[in-house]
Amino acid sequence: MQIAEEKLTFYYNDNNLKMPSYHIIKAALKERGDYLVEFYNEFLIDIYVLLDKPDSKYIAIDWDNTVSADRTFFIDLIQRFQKADYIPFICTLRSPDKGNVVEIRSLLEETNIGIYLTDGCDKRGYMRDCGINVHLWIDDFYPGICREACSLLIENGIE
Ligand SMILES: [Mg+2]
Repeated sequence: MQIAEEKLTFYYNDNNLKMPSYHIIKAALKERGDYLVEFYNEFLIDIYVLLDKPDSKYIAIDWDNTVSADRTFFIDLIQRFQKADYIPFICTLRSPDKGNVVEIRSLLEETNIGIYLTDGCDKRGYMRDCGINVHLWIDDFYPGICREACSLLIENGIE
């Protein structure tokens, strides 16, 4: 695997370390040499991995400053999730115009995954309205997922 120039620090709260999805992420990070922290420190963390519905198979992955921060790593991670029967998809605050979809689709190359563009709406509410309960949120900007002090953040040890 290509070694990225800049290492990323991921956060996965230590209440959730028994989740099979955690082991997939941990293995991928270990190979790449990225960091994983299990305590909340907003100054240290680049990308948050937040557990929402433990039994769901859907994994929502942000685009800007998440996948775009290291496409090679995320394409590999998406494929690892798919092999383990998870359903990863892109969920971005970008507006739902065709140019955004085409750009994201083309940069993801060999992966064929769903792309949801919420147009600035909070992602958790948007996906719920689409009838999708999310297992994990992978995102550099958690306020885009839900409002401050929502149960998702509290359950993941944030604030
Ligand atoms: Mg982002």
